[in-house]
Amino acid sequence: MSDPASDLPFFYGSISRAEAEECLKLAGMADGLFLLRQCLRSLGGYVLSLVWNLQFHHYSVEKQLNGTYCIAGGKPHCGPAELCEYYSKDPDGLVSTLRKPCLRPPETAVRAGVFESLRDNMLREYVRQTWHLEGEAMEQAIINQAPQLEKLIATTAHEKMPWYHGKIDRQEGERRLYSGAQPDGKFLVRDREESGTFALSMMYGKTTYHYQILHDKSGKYSMPEGTKFDTIWQLVEYLKMKPDGLVTILREPCVNPNYSAAATPSVPGVRRSLQSNGYTPPPKAPEGLGVDRRTLPMDTSVYESPYSDPEALKEKKLFLKRTQLMIDEVELGSGNFGCVKKGVYRMRKKQIDVAIKVLKSENENKAVKDEMMKEAEIMHQLDNPYIVRMIGLCEAENLMLVMEMAAFGPLNKFLSSKKDQISVENVVELMHQVSLGMLYLEENNFVHRDLAARNVLLVNQHYAKISDFGLSKALGADGNYYRARAAGKWPLKWYAPECINFHKFSSKSDVWSFGITMWEAFSFGGKPYKVRPADLGGALRGVPHCGTSTSGTAWGA
Ligand code: AMP
Repeated sequence: MSDPASDLPFFYGSISRAEAEECLKLAGMADGLFLLRQCLRSLGGYVLSLVWNLQFHHYSVEKQLNGTYCIAGGKPHCGPAELCEYYSKDPDGLVSTLRKPCLRPPETAVRAGVFESLRDNMLREYVRQTWHLEGEAMEQAIINQAPQLEKLIATTAHEKMPWYHGKIDRQEGERRLYSGAQPDGKFLVRDREESGTFALSMMYGKTTYHYQILHDKSGKYSMPEGTKFDTIWQLVEYLKMKPDGLVTILREPCVNPNYSAAATPSVPGVRRSLQSNGYTPPPKAPEGLGVDRRTLPMDTSVYESPYSDPEALKEKKLFLKRTQLMIDEVELGSGNFGCVKKGVYRMRKKQIDVAIKVLKSENENKAVKDEMMKEAEIMHQLDNPYIVRMIGLCEAENLMLVMEMAAFGPLNKFLSSKKDQISVENVVELMHQVSLGMLYLEENNFVHRDLAARNVLLVNQHYAKISDFGLSKALGADGNYYRARAAGKWPLKWYAPECINFHKFSSKSDVWSFGITMWEAFSFGGKPYKVRPADLGGALRGVPHCGTSTSGTAWGA
């Protein structure tokens, strides 16, 4: 998985503060000149380096647990591009707005950090050993799980570094440092036997020094009173630049005699590693046409946001121009608000297929309009490959919600019409993707409240996206559930008891709905709790408000 900032022309990757300042000096030191670099301290974080009044200002951009990015005390943003876009319009606490990007010279590649060169192999090794997967199944798992796995393996990446010696005592550490040349700054990291913590041993003036690496409650590593880091290898990289309390900076690693350089390929990015493993991604298949088994989600045009291109992002607006939207007469589906039509949205560099939810013109019902606006508001905040993205709203002959196209339609219909052609593995693959989309929602404090197979749309046979955010809610930072004031027109069969009894909705109740959706998927589009009328009064009897519709949807009011 490549860095989300890798396409930004002002992103330099893993460069130090001094190098960033050098680049800004070379670019002229104009007020508002800025660049973005990888944070060497926190996993997945960045530093924004900005010039004002001939001075440098460096702002850490932290990656939050929920996957958003923010400058301390500032607003969260869904990606580094969105964050920079925001600060280019509003300084919001910075010394200035971001006025002029300090562009990376065309011949200079984004500098990969130490971890990037190890990441692919570690991901692969982990998936092979833990899940016993090989070949294409392994590639698919890596793609689906990359963000979660990356975090997991980043914290153990030091074990693959030449300077890491595992569990050896202080004497053995000294013996290894004294063997061979003894330059100042020669170092190794070892496990401290008794406490399960780490120690740094280094050479200076032919003498060895030992430092305990502190590990605080929040999981950060540091030297006593020094800067804190998410991982041991980030701490080591930092100590190569700054002594931070040591007798000198770290220089030459004392190489572990058991270290194997073969474990450190330098091919960053899953996509490239797929190729290096003999896998060649197929050309982008037009969604909706016969799709080859080997087409992976990432090979489709809807894996990444249409706004991942910084040029397109600059023009991103909530309200789209009607002139850029072409509406086809083909109806993809309908609901009580109106119908969903097929269309094309023209962007600056490309045209994309879209699905357009059109509010019926006679539907002046304010509640329906409000519901559509609320759905748009929620969708506007989401950006994940396993969630149908909203492109924007368009107010013209009707109010229209423009979304990414998922041409294969709802999962329940697809599975029931293709029962004999779809393998159970295929269903697992799709539901795995749904779980990743739901994980993203949970991490970002959203509750979906209407997860069901009818609301999982397929881009193709092997790529699912969650849709229909009409009932969804963003939870406040302080709450982990939403309580509805009154019951509405609800999909009761997908609801957990606390939703029905106490109107309480949380990620936990979304998990319940996920369970029902799993049941629908593995019964190839079956209707949950489908009982013969004679059996009614069993499982459902006694559930308050439960509409016992025989249609299978069981919307209750
Ligand atoms: P909804 O009211 O959101 O459930 O949409 C009604 C129907 O329109 C769905 O069941 C789909 O058949 C179709 N539809 C909605 N959104 C999309 C989309 N993004 N791509 C393709 N079809 C869609």
